[in-house]
Amino acid sequence: MKIAFIGLGNMGGPMALNLHKAGHAVSAFDLSAAACDALRAQGVAIAASASAAVSGAEVVVSMLPASQHVESLYLGEGGLLAQIESGTLVIDSSTIAAATSRKVAEAGAARGIAVIDAPVSGGTGGAIAGTLTFMVGGSEADLARARPVLEKMGANIFHAGGPGAGQTAKICNNMLLGILMIGTSEAIVLGVANGLDPKVLSEIMRRSSGGNWALEKYNPLPGVMETAPASKGYAGGFGTDLMLKDLGLAQENATAVKASTPLGGLARSLYAAHSLAGHGALDFSSVIRMVQRAG
Ligand code: NAD
Repeated sequence: MKIAFIGLGNMGGPMALNLHKAGHAVSAFDLSAAACDALRAQGVAIAASASAAVSGAEVVVSMLPASQHVESLYLGEGGLLAQIESGTLVIDSSTIAAATSRKVAEAGAARGIAVIDAPVSGGTGGAIAGTLTFMVGGSEADLARARPVLEKMGANIFHAGGPGAGQTAKICNNMLLGILMIGTSEAIVLGVANGLDPKVLSEIMRRSSGGNWALEKYNPLPGVMETAPASKGYAGGFGTDLMLKDLGLAQENATAVKASTPLGGLARSLYAAHSLAGHGALDFSSVIRMVQRAG
């Protein structure tokens, strides 16, 4: 299958590589030359522009940072929806506002282009291993078309509902993740302040009622888990500013539907302060620094 892949960052890079390894003819593009070079070095064909990448593609996948990037890629001046052939399937895996996903889907439908939102969970580890969870918003028929492509990048595929529903599921999940990373950080720092070995404490909590994904796969304290971003200077992974974006989306949504999300609001404020302190580009688990003793 001819697949165009736009956005080759921490997540998009390994996702595009998995499609390439599965035998698809991938034509990839990113605005960052470094991101393109990294994929080219692994044998993936790099297009000169997004327009060139989608030329002749049967499926277009995008993995961009936020709503404004997706909107300008597809709907902006010279946007891709004006260039993609009718009958093409577009899978947007970026985490963005549900309203933006619906807007792009409606514009696509008017041109005979099926657009589904398919945000993911599982982190960069899941992207590399091809074990991501996809949360899809769109029709059953469009999901059926997308499934063979999604299966090469993920292990779990959920149909959340109509257009935008994948995004709603994703912000519920990430609001919970943002909160639990702060809670996990507080608990580890409290134990360490009392002289406990953080590895022993983390293992106790992982196997007890406080067990969660951060303790399983993403311990926020450097040195506890070799593979976690914390042990790599919080490089790569899921940026603090991306988590801040998701918590903002959750709060906007909560305001719109009059939901009460006090911990989600507090978590947004803590990640905002962490970002303002200069840590926006670090992995979000670096939020542990907000509760750590200096030095
Ligand atoms: P990233 O910042 O590492 O990568 C985004 C890439 O998009 C960058 O390389 C950037 O140059 C490129 N880009 C931006 N605008 C572009 C355009 N118009 N054309 C081509 N390329 C463009 O971000 P990421 O960590 O890969 O995250 C991507 C999305 O996935 C975000 O919405 C994020 O919230 C979500 N997400 C991330 C993770 C994670 O663990 N990193 C997990 C789940 C979901």
